[in-house]
Amino acid sequence: MSNQPKPNYPKRVPLAQLPTPIQPLARLSKHLGGPTLLIKRDDQTGLAGGGNKARKLEFLVAEALAQGCDYLVTTGAAQSNHCRQTAAAAAAYGLGCSLVLKGNPPAAVTGNLLLDELLGAHLYWSSDQDTVALMGAVCAELRTMGHTPYQIPLGGSNVVGATGYVLAMEELKTQIATANLNIDFIIVASGSGGTQAGMVLGATVYDFRGEILGISVAAETQALHTQVAALATATATHLGLGTLSLADRVNVNDDYVGEGYAVVGESEREAVRMVAQLEGILLDPVYTGRAMGGLIDLIRWGAFTRRQTVLFWHTGGAPALPAFAEKLG
Ligand SMILES: *Cc1c(COP(=O)(O)O)cnc(C)c1O
Repeated sequence: MSNQPKPNYPKRVPLAQLPTPIQPLARLSKHLGGPTLLIKRDDQTGLAGGGNKARKLEFLVAEALAQGCDYLVTTGAAQSNHCRQTAAAAAAYGLGCSLVLKGNPPAAVTGNLLLDELLGAHLYWSSDQDTVALMGAVCAELRTMGHTPYQIPLGGSNVVGATGYVLAMEELKTQIATANLNIDFIIVASGSGGTQAGMVLGATVYDFRGEILGISVAAETQALHTQVAALATATATHLGLGTLSLADRVNVNDDYVGEGYAVVGESEREAVRMVAQLEGILLDPVYTGRAMGGLIDLIRWGAFTRRQTVLFWHTGGAPALPAFAEKLG
């Protein structure tokens, strides 16, 4: 809003290929008989296979460097895209990288896990330990070895990481103006909530009037709503925008969580195959396939009119595909 102060962005380092393109999904839209569908290609941000974590890491790595840190430490699932992109960012800046992966090592080293190893990350499996506690222990050990670790939370979802998606909404605003687009809805996969939180704040700052709908990949609606709203508000404070009430702009849908995080069902399988075969675009089964499965279902239920425009924000994830070969084939 014009009467609102401008965000005071901290330093960032270049890691992502920006702006990411917006493309029509004309064949998918025709197939579904639905609204006009667009896709924003944050799967094309680069950084060892692309994805939304590249935008977050531009601010996180900048802060790590400013604090004189020489190690990035973070956590995620075995097939975490966030861990893979963090390992790549560390390599690109000559930093060490330690990853705390949830659970036990799987039989096959494939997908993002293979890439973590190729990128030189040190892997720690949590087994039944708490991942946050284990990250603390890994950081303590690094300090005794004379290193200065920089700890990044799950998904890079703190005020620093979410800032990447506030800035992404400025990028979107420019693209909307240039191509004269009218976007009624943004659909995005929401996990740890930093992406959606940044978007929600960015929508307010850059006057995006459409609705942003987060398709939950794991959490229940109420919990994710609270998390996204709190992070959006905290990010506003972080950027010098004062106290903003943003809860009204947070829309979350947990109808597509199915059997839980990373459990591939028929909806994800159909969405991944449909978008691949109609558009030549790869989704992933954990995040974007789940969100697209939700979008397809919403279209079938008549949630949008044919005159509306829906932007699917592709947050990446395809490097995980080989790890789900059995479930997708
Ligand atoms: C991490 C991730 C998300 C979710 O982003 P959050 O900021 O954690 O909500 C969505 N899609 C992909 C491919 C991801 O890796």
